[in-house]
Amino acid sequence: MAQKDVVYQEAGCYRFDPRGGRPYLVGGKCRRCGYAAFPARAVCPVCIDRESMEEVSLGSRGTVDTFSVLRAGAPGFEAPYVVAYVLMPAGGRVFSLITGCEPSEGSLEIGTEVELVIEKIREDEQGNEVRGYKFRPVGAGERGAGPR
Ligand SMILES: [Zn+2]
Repeated sequence: MAQKDVVYQEAGCYRFDPRGGRPYLVGGKCRRCGYAAFPARAVCPVCIDRESMEEVSLGSRGTVDTFSVLRAGAPGFEAPYVVAYVLMPAGGRVFSLITGCEPSEGSLEIGTEVELVIEKIREDEQGNEVRGYKFRPVGAGERGAGPR
C-alpha cells in the first residue's frame, strides 16, 4: 500500500504561531482605508489600489455570523455537518466548516465565539489526509483537535 501523506489545503490562508503552534488566519488589510479581506486580495475593492493591501494576521478567534446544518454532503464530506460565516474582529468574513459541536441547529447561535483549528477535512482520491481550517466553539475542548 502506498504511503499516505498529509496534505494542507489552502495553506496560504493560515499559519502556525512559532511560539506554541496555535494556528491563525492570514488575510489582507488595506493600509489606506483599513478594509480587511479573507482570503487576502491583491487589490483593495474600496480604494481600487493595488499597492495598499498588505498581509496581516486576522487572529484565531471570531464569532458566528450565520450558520447552516447541511444534511446532504458534498463529495468527500459526510453529512450532516455545519458550515458558517465567521466574523473576525480584525476584519474579514470567513466561510468555514464548524467542528466540535453536534450538527444540529441548537448547537450554535449567532454570536457564538469560535476558534480556528487545522484538522482533517476529508481524504483525497489517493487516501491522503487533507487538512484545512475549521472553527470550533470556544470551550469545546481539545477533542478532535489536530496536533498541529
Ligand atoms: Zn482601501
